[in-house]
Amino acid sequence: MLCDFHLHTSFSGDSDTPPVQQIERAIALGMERICITDHHDYDVVSDLDFTLDFPVYLSALAQLRDRFRDRIRIEIGVELGLQRHIADYLNDLVRTYAFDYVIGSNHFIDGLDPYLPVFYEGRTEREALRRFFESSLEVVRELDCYDSFGHLDYIVRYCPTRNANYRAADYMDYIDPLLRTLIEKGKALECNTGGYRRQLGHPNPCEDILRRYRELGGELLTVGSDAHTPDYIGCEFARASEILRECGFKYYTVYHQRKAEMLPL
Ligand SMILES: [Zn+2]
Ligand SMILES: [Zn+2]
Repeated sequence: MLCDFHLHTSFSGDSDTPPVQQIERAIALGMERICITDHHDYDVVSDLDFTLDFPVYLSALAQLRDRFRDRIRIEIGVELGLQRHIADYLNDLVRTYAFDYVIGSNHFIDGLDPYLPVFYEGRTEREALRRFFESSLEVVRELDCYDSFGHLDYIVRYCPTRNANYRAADYMDYIDPLLRTLIEKGKALECNTGGYRRQLGHPNPCEDILRRYRELGGELLTVGSDAHTPDYIGCEFARASEILRECGFKYYTVYHQRKAEMLPL
């Protein structure tokens, strides 16, 4: 099974799963390597606390990495919420702490979470999606603190009609330059299988975007389930592997000490 490089534990404000449970489930699935990537969304307004106490988080994960060393390889990562106004803060963060892998995600757009209905108020769904992809392009262009850009079109998990009216082609004026920017910067694109868990029938991003990334020359591609509970670790990885091969990929990417390594799909 592919290595799962997007996993949450109770260090994240939206997960109650102790890290040990996630690790034991990954071992039971026969996974050889995982990366724990808990949330850190700095300077946002939310009912949940999406920030990490890094010294506590990193020392706890280092202990678990050592404790399970003979059974599974654990990389220590983080999922950072990308926002333009905190670029300096995020750059300092990734210089200060020794992560193996950093996912950059666009979780708050103009201060609003697309998970909540207020994001769609006063505009059409299409306008909301356009602003989402436009702001994704902005953060990918302006920030450099990440290794892989997380779940590119995950907004269709939450928008009013979900993915019923979604066609990636309608947003390619933003998505195409975003993919080109990732390639130019040597950043990876993430294939996040959380879309299957939410009954979208496709990963995030969808196949059209994955295929386009490959056509443009994109090679660095990470894979993650975004599991917040043990039952979703490695969710639909066999299907994702097949889709990615159909899209023209032969390899996917894992990271150690923020250096990319290619593994066969
Ligand atoms: Zn995320
Ligand atoms: Zn996540």
